[in-house]
Amino acid sequence: MNSSIHLGHLFPTLPQMPAFDPSIRRAPKRTAELSDNDVKLAIRNALRYIPNEWHETLGHEFYQELMEHGRIYGYRFRPEGLIKGQPVDQYEGQTLEGKAFQTMIDNNLDFDVALYPYELVTYGETGQVFQNWMQYHLVKYYLKMMKDNQTLVILSGHPLGLFYSNANAPRVMLTNGLMVGTYDHPNHFARAAALGVANYGQMTAGGWMYIGPQGIVHGTYSTLLNAGRLKLGLGHQDNLKGKLFVSSGLGGMSGAQGKACEIAGGVAIIAEVDFSRIQTRHQQGWVSMATASLKEAFDCAKQSQKEHKPMAIAYHGNIVDVLEYAIAEHIHIDLLSDQTSCHAVYEGGYCPADMDFEERTRLLKNHPDVFKGKVDKTLKRHYQGILTLRDRGTYFFDYGNAFLKSVYDAGEVSVCKNKTNDLEGFIFPSYVEDIMGPLLFDYGYGPFRWVCLSNNPLDLDKTDQAAMEEIDPSRRFQDYDNYMWIKDAKKNQLVVGTLARILYQDAFGRLKIAKRFNQMVRNQEIGPIMLGRDHHDTGGTDSPFRETSNIKDGSNIMAEMATHVAMGNAARGMSLVALHNGGGVGIGKSINGGYGMLLDGSKRVDAILDQAMLFDVMTGVSRRAWATNQHAIETVHQYHQEVEHSNITVPFLAQEELIESIIKKK
Ligand code: NAD
Repeated sequence: MNSSIHLGHLFPTLPQMPAFDPSIRRAPKRTAELSDNDVKLAIRNALRYIPNEWHETLGHEFYQELMEHGRIYGYRFRPEGLIKGQPVDQYEGQTLEGKAFQTMIDNNLDFDVALYPYELVTYGETGQVFQNWMQYHLVKYYLKMMKDNQTLVILSGHPLGLFYSNANAPRVMLTNGLMVGTYDHPNHFARAAALGVANYGQMTAGGWMYIGPQGIVHGTYSTLLNAGRLKLGLGHQDNLKGKLFVSSGLGGMSGAQGKACEIAGGVAIIAEVDFSRIQTRHQQGWVSMATASLKEAFDCAKQSQKEHKPMAIAYHGNIVDVLEYAIAEHIHIDLLSDQTSCHAVYEGGYCPADMDFEERTRLLKNHPDVFKGKVDKTLKRHYQGILTLRDRGTYFFDYGNAFLKSVYDAGEVSVCKNKTNDLEGFIFPSYVEDIMGPLLFDYGYGPFRWVCLSNNPLDLDKTDQAAMEEIDPSRRFQDYDNYMWIKDAKKNQLVVGTLARILYQDAFGRLKIAKRFNQMVRNQEIGPIMLGRDHHDTGGTDSPFRETSNIKDGSNIMAEMATHVAMGNAARGMSLVALHNGGGVGIGKSINGGYGMLLDGSKRVDAILDQAMLFDVMTGVSRRAWATNQHAIETVHQYHQEVEHSNITVPFLAQEELIESIIKKK
């Protein structure tokens, strides 16, 4: 007979409140409109995790947390001290998957990795692994107990339970923040999160596959290089030497921008309002210098550009000031973007101008309405600055943080292509629309990654080498870029947290590398590997403001592809399958999914890889082909030549003149 598992089994006595280290960055107060009944419901909900004898104490404590932080995190159950992803053999468990996911969870909450580790936020201002520490303990306990005929089901961080399944079923299936259409809005989400029933998982945080800012460096590197090729006239083997890139944000993901620009050979100035984040990136070597003087930042950039010396400069201050300075001083910026957390623009993701970071945090806590007004005003100023620079020859692109959507939401309709609404997109392309969609996603290239669960540096070296050997750099220019990336990956010191690697690959590249790694595990050349990918991928995400912004058949507002990819990966036996709402751009603006696939060296895993790796990518390419994207159609034709057992529907292309003449005659 089974009996249900609860926190009382894990904590024989009520633990002491752990100490808070004042040097650890804390999440700002989250806002939500709650009625008195909602407050009662939130407390009642949180107490469901707690044995009755502790309700009196914790009921009051949870109420305090809700009032002070806008959420019930259950701080008392936070593990004392630092969290780190440990080598897999140091965890208890009945399956390798169960142990491996504990490594992944702890890596997502690693104090060097996570943005607000006390609040379980990994990255992207609001991207949480779980809603509260009670869920953290229960999930880890279930993972410890899980057998290979059970699947753990997780709803927004809450472990619904372990259910009977089979050895070829996923060990974990999880969703984050999925809402019923009518309520699929940030305001309803904020209430649901305060009630403890909704988690914003971003993309990889809630799916436990975040690997530190390295996860985005490769994509940013490819985006910058290809922006240079498309807009600055660079050749296929040129780099960004002598070019200036300006952007904002040195947080979880945005922290990769300076490094990516340096690897691409260019000079970057990145504005950041929070000094602690500049310090983190500086200590990690991801920015080369920091200054609060705009003159110094631009002078250094100019010198480095002249010397063709790659450099990443952090400017401590608001991005709006950087743009206005460049305009006033007539400084040319080649590439311009923004990576503030605009997916959560009124929750602290975007800092208004003319105030420092501390003032922003106070204003957000005490006067959220005034804060909102100032955010809107700054967004409009920011947009005006971009327009002026655009007119002077700067190439601006939206880097998938919903910046343009936020400008529109702030009341600036002129940002819309049709000058009325956002249905036809914005006057500036998103990086996916112009660059990543046609040049990478339509071919199936996307952010494939792996984690060395042994945490042995030799394993990372061996996998880097093996992956490089599987790439033919002469096949396409993308393969050349990927080859160069992996060749220099170790030298570029990209790892933060558990040993991991990102490497953009197409469908066949991913399959080849995955099977080679599994063979290496089988031969005991390396320890077990967790494969995964960012949800930000060719088939992983439906997001009209980002991943599917280069889908022009009207289906960019549909969310069926990511759902199918997740269902299909589960059917084929991936170890973990995740489906989320809002990753990257915010609640209601995307549906995105990902996977984790444990390589244990078995033939069983080889068979899963054969079925799932190509499916995962080609579902996205097929959808892009059906939307008549030329490169995707070519990729499907090649796929048909190489693979049995699959048939993909390919569109007929109508002549534009015919369509025009039909309309004219009516
Ligand atoms: P983050 O919240 O950790 O970092 C954003 C940083 O911007 C913060 O450090 C904040 O202090 C700073 N900032 C805010 N307003 C500013 C201003 N006006 N001037 C200067 N600095 C300012 O978030 P993150 O993980 O870095 O992600 C940033 C955004 O990018 C999010 O919206 C996220 O969803 C999106 N994102 C994009 C991709 C992609 O592949 N394109 C991937 C992940 C995340």
